[in-house]
Amino acid sequence: MRFEELETPCYVIDEKKLKHNLTILSRLEKDTGCHILLAQKAFSYYPAYPLIGQYISGTTASGLFEAKLGYEELKLKVENKENHVFCPGYKACEMDELDEICDHLIFNSLTQYEKLHGYCKKSSVGLRINPECSTQDGHAIYDPCAPFSRLGIRVDELKQKFGKKLPKDIEGMHFHTLCEQNSDDLDKTLSVVEEKFQDYLKQIKWINFGGGHHITRCDYDLELLKKCIVRMQEKYGVNVYLEPGEAIALNAGYFVTQVVDVVHNEMDILILDGSAACHMPDVLEMPYRPPLKNSGEVGEKKYLYRLASSTCLAGDIIGDYSFDKEIKIGDKLVFEDMAIYSMVKNNTFNGMPLPDIVYMNECGECHIQKAFCYSDFKHRLG
Ligand SMILES: *Cc1c(COP(=O)(O)O)cnc(C)c1O
Repeated sequence: MRFEELETPCYVIDEKKLKHNLTILSRLEKDTGCHILLAQKAFSYYPAYPLIGQYISGTTASGLFEAKLGYEELKLKVENKENHVFCPGYKACEMDELDEICDHLIFNSLTQYEKLHGYCKKSSVGLRINPECSTQDGHAIYDPCAPFSRLGIRVDELKQKFGKKLPKDIEGMHFHTLCEQNSDDLDKTLSVVEEKFQDYLKQIKWINFGGGHHITRCDYDLELLKKCIVRMQEKYGVNVYLEPGEAIALNAGYFVTQVVDVVHNEMDILILDGSAACHMPDVLEMPYRPPLKNSGEVGEKKYLYRLASSTCLAGDIIGDYSFDKEIKIGDKLVFEDMAIYSMVKNNTFNGMPLPDIVYMNECGECHIQKAFCYSDFKHRLG
């Protein structure tokens, strides 16, 4: 099937773009000796895990279900891959299974560590730290270093509990403080981590820089990232992990919708068969304006439209876009950069259908990997 023949709404994963990103990440591993893990919460399209496994070291998970997915679909299928997990609230009943399927298990608090570290017989134990160094402004909901953050252990807590010496079974440290950021912010964060945690850095085997590194974005400073990685390896003799989500599938997918109606209320408004609230929730949550193929900003092109959805939510609006030609009922609109934080977050509010998931190979041939129907909506509810 060709892209133009796809039925809407659907997500399309672009193999060519995915490989482009993976090639950059694989080269980074080779150049520095670091290990890159896919943060599955951004992109859990597991049919592509064997491909991803040809380029990077493994997966990381936000809890038991993602950990199982990474284990089944990557670790069991590709040799020598790693599966890591971090969760702010592990339950005792999950621990035996997590220890069985994960290589690294990271605790968010000292109470969680104390209560549950005894379960870690096979896995390497790490602690998430909070360096209390905010480098992002604007998105407080994405800042784990914001005041009252529940994410990570502060240096004062560590000192009070352990003094200068960590228990023997703590082999690693993890921090995650960035979101869509460049390596200058990592560099700043690392300086603070070194200053505050240096006694501990000398005692551990690995450090995980978390996610939020926009490594595959065209203006990303890879050379500075490499310097950061090598500096930590040489100074402390640690293995370095990075666990990007976005960077793995950045710009590697589309969301294809169709115009169902055009209404007018002081401006032209398109009713689409796709929804921000249901199919790209980050548009409203973050919020942001998704890139749309063949469109411009307000005032840039001749025809202006507000793009909105078929749900009852008045605010289910994607944004205002301009076009060179008039848009008609039946036209298809293609949103870009829709592989990440889309399929993993969608929902059936208003009984909206879940978009099909399509894989487009390097030759541009599309095949429907997963089609959804009415029963997917019904069976989740009773
Ligand atoms: C969200 C998250 C990631 C991935 O973040 P991206 O912004 O998608 O790169 C990695 N690690 C942790 C702990 C996270 O919470």
